[in-house]
Amino acid sequence: MRRAGLLSGLMAVCTAAAAADYSGPLFDAHLHYNDEACTHDTPAPGCPHPMADVLARMQRNGVRAIVANSRPNDGTKALATAREQTRAAGVTVVPFVRLYRNRADYSNWFRDPTIVDMVNTELARGTPAGPYRGLGEFHLYDSANANGPVAKQLMALAEEKDLAVLAHVDDVAIDLLMANTPSKGQKMRLIWAHTGIGGSPVARVDELFARYPKLMGELSYRPGLACADGQLCPEWRALLLKYPDRFLIGSDTWINQRWQYYDELMKGYRTWLGGLPAEVARRIAWDNGARLFGVTSP
Ligand SMILES: [Zn+2]
Repeated sequence: MRRAGLLSGLMAVCTAAAAADYSGPLFDAHLHYNDEACTHDTPAPGCPHPMADVLARMQRNGVRAIVANSRPNDGTKALATAREQTRAAGVTVVPFVRLYRNRADYSNWFRDPTIVDMVNTELARGTPAGPYRGLGEFHLYDSANANGPVAKQLMALAEEKDLAVLAHVDDVAIDLLMANTPSKGQKMRLIWAHTGIGGSPVARVDELFARYPKLMGELSYRPGLACADGQLCPEWRALLLKYPDRFLIGSDTWINQRWQYYDELMKGYRTWLGGLPAEVARRIAWDNGARLFGVTSP
């Protein structure tokens, strides 16, 4: 009896101390709909996440817009073509051209001229959800490849055509990629996937944000981001408060397991967003992505 009383007393204290989860709209700025998820309309054997499934996951999590990209580009096209279904789910699709037709392209795109041809073909074609708005996600496992001939060409093309890029790279490659744009990175809307998955120090992220006014940080998989109770660690909280207009959230559904845990991923974001001032939470959750791509608020 006494123990139960103590326990409920403690729970009351904890509940009072914890902020409520963020409950507004989410902009998933790093979403893949790859071939192994299955991009068909109807469930089939070996087809774990057909269109209706992924849209249901977005809808029940309050995800109202997505940056869609896929390997190959078919999944993106499927999402961009399913106008009635995405509208019914309340999801705006912002299509990006992926640089990968297959797995082999991950480690060769930056020097393969046929990738440029594919990108130009896709850009010229566009999608039923509107023109492509960006390039990527692309990876550079060796930052020096940011100076590969095709990497240089595509960075220049992205800035000229006012396309964003979604780049999974380290901090060294951010400087190299930015140097390859006509404005030397001053006009480039580069979304830094994971904001440094290798754990670039917060001070270094801060330095890059100060140097490149349109650099954005997407926060999936970011080491050191969340601490006890799923709330932001102090140095990350300080950085997000310093740059409330520069961060985005994303699911990074690069493997089917990420689709399986989509609810938990979004819940995790809602938890730490809830610990921020409401107006900062809203910007990181929704406004920053909506502003980047001109998406109207739900
Ligand atoms: Zn990714």
